[in-house]
Amino acid sequence: MSEPALRDVVIAGGGMVGASLAAALESTGLAVSLVEPSALEPGKGGQSGSGRDPDQRATALALSSRRFFEALDLWGAIAEGATPIRHIHVSERGRFSRVRLSAEDLELPALGHVVPNPMINAALAGRLETGANTELVADSARGELEQSKEWVALPLSSGQWLRTRLLVIADGARSRLREQLDIPVNQVDFGQHALVANVEVSRDLAGRAWERFTDSGPMALLPLGGRRANLVLCLRPEAASRWQTMKDHEFLAACHERFGAHLGAWRAVGKRQVFPLVQVRARALTSHRCVLAGNAAMSLHPVAGQGFNLALRGVADLAETLAAAAAAGQDPGGPGLLAAHAKRREADIEFTARWTRSLADAFTLGLPAAGLARSGALLMLDRVPVLRRWFARRATGMGPGLPALCRGVRPPFGDAGAS
Ligand SMILES: Cc1cc2nc3c(=O)[nH]c(=O)nc-3n(C[C@H](O)[C@H](O)[C@H](O)COP(=O)(O)OP(=O)(O)OC[C@H]3O[C@@H](n4cnc5c(N)ncnc54)[C@H](O)[C@@H]3O)c2cc1C
Repeated sequence: MSEPALRDVVIAGGGMVGASLAAALESTGLAVSLVEPSALEPGKGGQSGSGRDPDQRATALALSSRRFFEALDLWGAIAEGATPIRHIHVSERGRFSRVRLSAEDLELPALGHVVPNPMINAALAGRLETGANTELVADSARGELEQSKEWVALPLSSGQWLRTRLLVIADGARSRLREQLDIPVNQVDFGQHALVANVEVSRDLAGRAWERFTDSGPMALLPLGGRRANLVLCLRPEAASRWQTMKDHEFLAACHERFGAHLGAWRAVGKRQVFPLVQVRARALTSHRCVLAGNAAMSLHPVAGQGFNLALRGVADLAETLAAAAAAGQDPGGPGLLAAHAKRREADIEFTARWTRSLADAFTLGLPAAGLARSGALLMLDRVPVLRRWFARRATGMGPGLPALCRGVRPPFGDAGAS
């Protein structure tokens, strides 16, 4: 078989993260191939929990992610399906403690935007279909990777293979490619599944996101406009299967009972999907001419809605690093360049993983002491404006060392890009 042409970058996995990176690299002039087995079609989700049904999840996009999409001129398409979060209400079932955060506290028009995952995928697919520099490969990586001094060879299910100077591994939390590279992971199984569904209630959510902590795990409702909301219910695996197969009216009554009367009656529910909740953190972000991105690098408990937002900050840093290398005629898979990217990402990953993990532990451990501690924490957050503002600002993703794209700087990045 003849050797395939050498690509600058191959991205294995076209979920929201791989596709976002491909979109961010469009203007760099680098020759990019994106390998994804499920068709990247407008309207299709990426990974779905049960089989290949459209993804029922919605993502709460932080301000840093909105800025990323604005910089790539993709926000217009995404905003059509976006609902602004103007308030967040955090409470505990059976206790008086609660926190109320509002966009006004931060002098922002919104605390974030909720977008159904298929809308994000559709916007990305639309961009990539018309892109000049991205080759879409409808196939999957299969078989042993080969890492030579100058390139990496990626075999595909079809029997073809690709050769690239840099392989970006974005094939999800259970990444086979990461395993092949022998990159060890730290893994925490929360012993919970997230059940996700779109629901309708009888009162308008009016831009309010709800996070309610119950003895058996957190329950979140993200506003989708009017009375529609995206529900995320964290449950023990056996309870999740029971809730998934309940009749609609039983399910709605059980949700009402668990959530309380805040939003009136629960009227309708769409398809229910279940996602096992595991925190997986790769102990290294890079290997020779390879770099991990998205869930393959770090997957988080969804309680704080940070997984994709964190991943996009990594994508932005990588895109800027590669853009700067392309402009300087440097090798995109050079070890110094990849090491610098990994170093810059360390603090953000560490910080986000820690506070998400603490939140997940505090609200998934059923210990009485944990209950008292979290009530105290919630009361303190609610009463101390400085603390509340700090917490809300972290949740917007606008922390220190933010990559240029996440500040809304359009490519080419000039001196705003990574050096
Ligand atoms: C219930 C829930 C709610 C969430 N809510 C939020 C939120 O509000 N805010 C937030 O920021 N984050 C949220 N997240 C996290 C967010 O969904 C993830 O961070 C994000 O989906 C990760 O995307 P990814 O592209 O890295 O991985 P995936 O979505 O897993 O995509 C991996 C892709 O790789 C492809 N693939 C797999 N194997 C191969 C192969 N061999 N070859 C080629 N391709 C392959 C798959 O087909 C898939 O398309 C939530 C997660 C869950 C579970």
